[in-house]
Amino acid sequence: MAAQRIDIELYSDTRTRPTQAMRSAIAEADVGDEQAGEDPSTNALCARVADLLGKEAAVFLPSGTMCNEIALAVHCRPGDEVIADRTCHLTNFEGGGPAALAGVFIQGLDGERGVFTADQAAAAIRWRDRYAPRTSLISVEQTANLGGGTVWSLAALEAVGSLAKEHGLATHMDGARLLNAVVASGVPAADFAATVDSLWLDLSKGLGCPVGAVLAGSQAFIDEVWRWKQRLGGAMRQSGILAAAGLYALDNHVTRLADDHANARLFADLIAAVDGISVTPEHVETNIVYFDVSGTGLTAFDIAERLVEKGVRIGAFDAALMRAVTHLDVDEEGVRIAAEVLGDIVRSG
Ligand SMILES: *Cc1c(COP(=O)(O)O)cnc(C)c1O
Repeated sequence: MAAQRIDIELYSDTRTRPTQAMRSAIAEADVGDEQAGEDPSTNALCARVADLLGKEAAVFLPSGTMCNEIALAVHCRPGDEVIADRTCHLTNFEGGGPAALAGVFIQGLDGERGVFTADQAAAAIRWRDRYAPRTSLISVEQTANLGGGTVWSLAALEAVGSLAKEHGLATHMDGARLLNAVVASGVPAADFAATVDSLWLDLSKGLGCPVGAVLAGSQAFIDEVWRWKQRLGGAMRQSGILAAAGLYALDNHVTRLADDHANARLFADLIAAVDGISVTPEHVETNIVYFDVSGTGLTAFDIAERLVEKGVRIGAFDAALMRAVTHLDVDEEGVRIAAEVLGDIVRSG
């Protein structure tokens, strides 16, 4: 059977395809050997991101997952414990990497839509004695993906940051959607970044690049990251082809994230009016909309399948929960159509 044509793709902001202008930037990229430090486009991208985040250095990696896994390995020793929200990507979507690669385990806190408090983190820090694992790192996710694209406020991050300092713990930010948080809150990226030792941003989510992520921190941290990058096979050659897309996206695809946020909120407002769908539009702070369909008499899987028949893709997480994510390949009209098609499916039962 031929694959169903998808006209409106709301499954994830990873589904964006490079624009013509981005493809031109890729085609014209100045390149060299990245492993040797001789790829000018990759070097420019790393310098640009380090500057944006107010950190000493940065490194280009194939994925956000590799940024997270390497950061854990550099900050922690095997047997250490990491404090993070229970919904975090580290725990749920990295194939057990924290245990398999860094040899750490994660104490998952029960935060509010993916955001925990400094008090919760304080209560989770272990006694320093030989019976307990050593707590070595606190990790936060900006925005909190499974939390619904929630933005960590600067005040919340600062509170967690000073707690960590007080206890001699390292701090890491999974900034897959950091720039969504920046655009939604108006807080400069460097201010968010100042609250943590290391952080990264993803080029292949809302920024619309085909591949890549950039991890930043102190020079000493990045020197160690490079050993892991080499070890895991993440060191590249003419990666300027990819970095050029990242530079293009930082110039052209950041402020427009506000459109994605407006479209996500619009989608939530529209589907809130459909009987049987439960959604809280005020919780839609960025580009992610979670909604519950258990009141419709249909399962999320059924609805997802029927949406695909109509050329609309929205993810089903379990029988009740669905997730729609906006991005640069979906405009306001697309979101309106998706909401209408979803409403029709639910009403026809
Ligand atoms: C997508 C995502 C990642 C992983 O990034 P990849 O580039 O897909 O490996 C990590 N954390 C969060 C919160 C994400 O949404």
